[in-house]
Amino acid sequence: MNPNILILGAPGAGKGTQSDNIVDEYGVDHVTTGDALRSNKGMDISHLGLAYDTPGEYMDKGELVPDEVVNEIVETALDEADGYVLDGYPRNLDQAEHLSAMTDLDVVLYLDVDEDVLVERLTGRRVCEECGATFHVDFDPPEQAGVCDECGGDLYQREDDSEETARERIRVYEDNTAPVVEFYDDRGELARVDGEQTPDEVWGDVSDAIETHA
Ligand code: ADP
Ligand code: ADP
Ligand code: ZN
Repeated sequence: MNPNILILGAPGAGKGTQSDNIVDEYGVDHVTTGDALRSNKGMDISHLGLAYDTPGEYMDKGELVPDEVVNEIVETALDEADGYVLDGYPRNLDQAEHLSAMTDLDVVLYLDVDEDVLVERLTGRRVCEECGATFHVDFDPPEQAGVCDECGGDLYQREDDSEETARERIRVYEDNTAPVVEFYDDRGELARVDGEQTPDEVWGDVSDAIETHA
């Protein structure tokens, strides 16, 4: 049985980067609501009668997409997975309750990173439009600027990685998701990792925590 892993942390904490390592090492599925929503930005959700008619309108403002949209995406993905690393969900307490009813977690990881570092990481992030690989202009630059080392695809900057939207996302994170971290901490389930170390050092601590708990 492959492990069921939850990875928590603010936007830019390194969840995607470490999830890639987890997938390589443990052969689990990477279930990420951010990527799932980005590939469905234009989905028509007008029948729900919410503030906006597509997920993309929430995302470009740095706001959370409504729970009824996100819960369904996650439920389908977890049903189909043989072991997973879940990244980007739950982002509020209602989602955390929903997740508890859906599945059993083996490990809950928390990547701890200060706000100034998060903003530097988000505004310097570059993503491959072909394969989704992530780089950073200063901390993890590609060999040739603007070109993916993995597949040669073009790198782009996510629309919500502007400084203004990055700060708004961190604010939304503090209001909504910080209580989720407490929720798992109170239950004694949280494995805290210092996310300000180098990516390799963070990976060392992450893999130790998985070996201990799973
Ligand atoms: P998240 O998925 O939590 O939003 P990412 O994994 O996409 O975060 O990382 C955000 C940015 O920071 C990326 O550009 C990535 O290359 C860079 N990054 C990730 N981990 C580290 C680290 N330990 N030190 C420095 N930069 C990092
Ligand atoms: P990051 O990699 O910076 O942590 P994500 O890629 O996870 O950001 O998320 C991008 C956007 O997608 C969020 O700002 C939000 O609008 C939406 N989103 C992702 N996951 C969720 C979720 N669990 N609940 C609501 N909205 C979400
Ligand atoms: Zn690529």
